[in-house]
Amino acid sequence: MDFSLTPDQERLRQAVAEVCAKFPESYWQRLDREKRYPEEYVKALTDGGWLAVLIPTEYGGAGLGMVEASLVLEEINASGGNGAACHAAMYTMGALVRHGSEAQKRRYLPEIAAGRLRLQSMAVTEPQAGSDTSRITTFAKKDRDGYVLNGQKVFTSRVQHSDLLLVLARTTPADQVAKKTDGMSLFLVDLRQAGDSIEVRPIETMINHETNALFIQDLRVPADALVGREGAGFIHVLDGLNAERILIASESVGDARWFLQKSITYAKERVVFGRPIGANQGIQFPIARAFMHTQAASVMRFRAATAFDAGAPSGGEANTAKLLASEAAWEAAEVAMTTHGGSGMAVELGIERKFREARLYLVAPVTNNLVMAYVAEHVLGLPRSYGTEVSA
Ligand SMILES: Cc1cc2nc3c(=O)[nH]c(=O)nc-3n(C[C@H](O)[C@H](O)[C@H](O)COP(=O)(O)OP(=O)(O)OC[C@H]3O[C@@H](n4cnc5c(N)ncnc54)[C@H](O)[C@@H]3O)c2cc1C
Repeated sequence: MDFSLTPDQERLRQAVAEVCAKFPESYWQRLDREKRYPEEYVKALTDGGWLAVLIPTEYGGAGLGMVEASLVLEEINASGGNGAACHAAMYTMGALVRHGSEAQKRRYLPEIAAGRLRLQSMAVTEPQAGSDTSRITTFAKKDRDGYVLNGQKVFTSRVQHSDLLLVLARTTPADQVAKKTDGMSLFLVDLRQAGDSIEVRPIETMINHETNALFIQDLRVPADALVGREGAGFIHVLDGLNAERILIASESVGDARWFLQKSITYAKERVVFGRPIGANQGIQFPIARAFMHTQAASVMRFRAATAFDAGAPSGGEANTAKLLASEAAWEAAEVAMTTHGGSGMAVELGIERKFREARLYLVAPVTNNLVMAYVAEHVLGLPRSYGTEVSA
């Protein structure tokens, strides 16, 4: 298998890096201090068409594959930026591409591709359900001409910077379905028409990440807000999870590259005891090890993306790539901190900011424990250790 990039893919990577170069470390630090969303950055990427790479050409997108999408997000994070501000535009939109009706696709996708409509937010997690999605209780009750939603969501990211929100809700109570994962449905909610039916309470976290608790009360949505089949929402979400995991893995590979580059540069320049600190094996071996782990994670990410693009099953590869890449990024973050000594803690260098940001992907969008549970059961055939399917 050859995972070297084609000339077009190299050009794509270079073009994204050029956009990112306009947003230096000082930009990200100012945002981090002010806990502000990177509006200008997301606009620059949208204007360049980089967030629409997965939208088919007939709906105004670039019609490229997961390999190209993964390169975009890797480059964003390798350049010092944070793809979390905009990655959902890629994978949330996937639910619409794969399961939306033709009318929904014609209505929304060209507007999203042109940057006039933002689909940046997905509400799955609930406070009481946690990783066990089958226990969500947000309910969509069928009404004459649509549905009425009530419930509570937590950690719904970017909802304040989105026009559309994808919501997973029960349409049949859990005690009335044969399988606990049945009876859930996906809805595309137009936030501009939601009025005060959705109360948004920001959650402050250790990183600059716009995330929120949502309190949904009597939210009326039309019948055509339903995406895919009623009752099949969980399966539709699972379908998008492999894409999400491959893309998040790519961001982690980008983070790891950024930490390694900083570490290598500093290890060559910083002289202590009369020689560069990088001449000490105690400094260079951890850098070399983190580099090798990053390379391995990157190859697994490409393997997952290639399988995904070919329409082949990619659950094992996508989950493996997510775990390996998030761990490689976290290892590289630790290495960067050690290599920089006390300076690693200085806000000015950006290491501590990236250190905090890289930590998220050990937990989200699925915890690495649940990734291991998936691989143990679905790849290795071990007995199930938890209640619900976690991936397709
Ligand atoms: C900054 C941020 C942004 C997020 N954005 C979104 C978003 O936009 N939309 C959205 O829907 N969600 C979002 N999430 C939620 C995220 O997906 C969840 O936090 C994550 O899936 C874990 O769920 P939980 O926090 O409820 O942990 P829990 O499910 O309560 O788990 C707690 C711990 O127990 C472990 N655990 C639980 N069950 C098992 C088991 N059977 N075996 C072994 N270990 C187990 C977990 O691995 C974890 O370490 C976000 C979270 C954060 C922090």
